[in-house]
This record gives sequence, structure tokens and C-alpha cells, in this order.
Amino acid sequence: MKPLAVRCRSLIKRYGDNIAVNAIDLDVEQGQCFGLLGPNGAGKTTTVEMLEGLHPVDGGSLELFGHSWGDGHDHNMRQRYGAQLQATELADKLKVREVLRLFRSFYDQGHSVPELIEMVDLGEFQEQYFHTLSGGQKQRVAIACALAGAPELLFLDEPTTGLDPRARQRLWAIIENFRESGGTVMLTTHYMEEAAKLCDRIAIMDHGKIIDEGTPRSLVDSLGLVQFVEFETQQTIDLPRLTALAEVESVEQRGLTYRLRIGRDLNALRVVLVDLDQQRVVPVGLSTHQATLDDVFMERTGRALLGPTQTGQGAQASVPRATELAP
Ligand code: ATP
Repeated sequence: MKPLAVRCRSLIKRYGDNIAVNAIDLDVEQGQCFGLLGPNGAGKTTTVEMLEGLHPVDGGSLELFGHSWGDGHDHNMRQRYGAQLQATELADKLKVREVLRLFRSFYDQGHSVPELIEMVDLGEFQEQYFHTLSGGQKQRVAIACALAGAPELLFLDEPTTGLDPRARQRLWAIIENFRESGGTVMLTTHYMEEAAKLCDRIAIMDHGKIIDEGTPRSLVDSLGLVQFVEFETQQTIDLPRLTALAEVESVEQRGLTYRLRIGRDLNALRVVLVDLDQQRVVPVGLSTHQATLDDVFMERTGRALLGPTQTGQGAQASVPRATELAP
């Protein structure tokens, strides 16, 4: 095992009666991209902000590069990480180049401003005022600020929320370049496709707890050799009969919508369709997919990762199937 960049044990944060982070353990190896995946309010940002030394912890322990905040190494710890916060509100009156110069001045050593501009491909915008940039351009400036001190560890808090697919791809490329140069990344996201694409390991968070952890592949494989079939129908289905089929593992019904978990092979799908036909059920909008991280989340919590108000543009991006997650 490589040395750890981040280590938490029974880490706790409370806001009044609300336990935002509830006794979590985390190990992030140096060189790894580690994702905290979870819905709004899961406790991801609070966790990351404690790691960044922005909030005191209420219980348990955390270490960054083997040191805890307040044990005499705070300056060194701050020099070794860069953080892109969830909401970046940089001074409106500053140009991109000036913002980067400001952030570079916080660090003893690091990249020059021209290097940073090159790394995030912002050459044509460097003389533009920050407030005139698009969301994707602002996020690139935010990541350049996080990279200013040539950090070993990069914290990225929902770096692509609200971005269109193209802007998102550009940010992913910047993150992958940082990884290729040996950097460690700790990323929060509620987009499963982002976690699956970028992360070596993922911890799924919900209500302040880690409910599952592993590689994207192992998490998906934990569901077994299954596929999911979804459709709507106006007709009444004989659910006990459908569930009794050997090929069907489970059936969920929400109103007129059905979600079946069945064997991964084509024959299982054929058996289900034949049975629906025999029941004179007409499935509308039928779709099938192999298991994804979203299915893992749903399996563990009974809820979808992205609620109806959280889908945003990015959630429309293509979703990796289990086969695409293969190394
Ligand atoms: P999101 O994806 O929306 O950013 P998250 O997983 O990052 O969600 P947190 O922002 O860490 O979640 O919030 C975890 C819980 O802590 C929520 O219930 C939130 O309301 C609460 N919380 C966070 N910050 C504060 C605060 N400063 N004061 C009181 N409660 C807070």
C-alpha cells in the first residue's frame, strides 16, 4: 500500500442536532483519485472542508500527509494541497491573470501564472474580468487557482456541477493531466458518470455515513450479474407471477412505472417480455441497462442518486455501463 495522503477515523461533524458527518473512516493513497459520491446534503462538502482545515472536527481524527491540523505542521499542510471550493466568488474587479497572480502569492513555491494559464487553456481569456466568464471558464480559473502552489493533493468539490457536457469534458482532461503527473485527487460529486470516469476508488455517502466503498467496478459488480428493465404500463401486472420467474430478482413499482432487476443474459429479457405479453401487458418506453453506480446507490438506499431537481445538464451525459467500467 502506498503512503496515505488522507486518513480519517470515526470523523464526526455536528451542526446542532444534525450529524452532518457521522463517524466515517477514509484512506486515500497518494496518487489516487478518490471520489465521495452522494446526493445533496450527504456530508461530502463538510468532510472535505474539515480535511482542508476550514472546520474543526467534533470527534474522531483526520490526517493529511500524516499530520493533523494544529499539531504544528499547518503551514506545511496548506502548502501541499490546493482546493477548488464549491462556489468560487472571486473579486469581480480582477482579471483572470490577476486572480491567478493573487492565488500564486499564497504559496511559497508553485507554477508561474503563464504556466497556470497554459495548464487550463485560458490564454484567450487572461485579460478578461472574472465576472464576464462563462461557468465552465470560471471553473477552469478555480482549478488553476487550486493548482497555483503545485499541490500534491487537489480537493475538488463538485467541479462540474451545472456545466454543459463539453465544459465538463475539458475539466475532466485537466484533472486527468494532474493525475498523470502523480497528483492525488479527492473529489466530491453527485454525478455517477464523473465518479466512474475519474476515480480509482469511491465512497458512497448518504446522511453523513459511508454506505459503501470500493472501485467503480467492484461496487457495480457487487450487484451481481444483473440488468435493469424499466417501463411504464397502463395495464395491471400480476406481480407475484412476474416475481416468481427464476430470471427475475426483484420488481419495484412506482405508480405506472416498473423497474425489474433480472439476469444479465438476453434470455432473461426474452422470458420477461414473453411473460408480459402473456399477461397482455404492453410495456411503454421500455429500456434496459446494465448496473451503474446509480443502481448501487438505489440498492443501498431505495432512492435515486439524483432527485428530480438535481438532474441538471450534466446528468444527461452518457452513463457508463458496467461493461464500460471494465479496466
Ligand atoms: P451538496 O451536494 O448539496 O453540497 P453535501 O453532501 O456536500 O451536499 P454538506 O454540504 O456537507 O452536504 O451538508 C451536510 C449536512 O450538513 C446538511 O444537512 C447541511 O444542511 C448541513 N450543513 C452544512 N453546513 C452547515 C452549516 N454551516 N450550518 C448548519 N448546517 C450545515
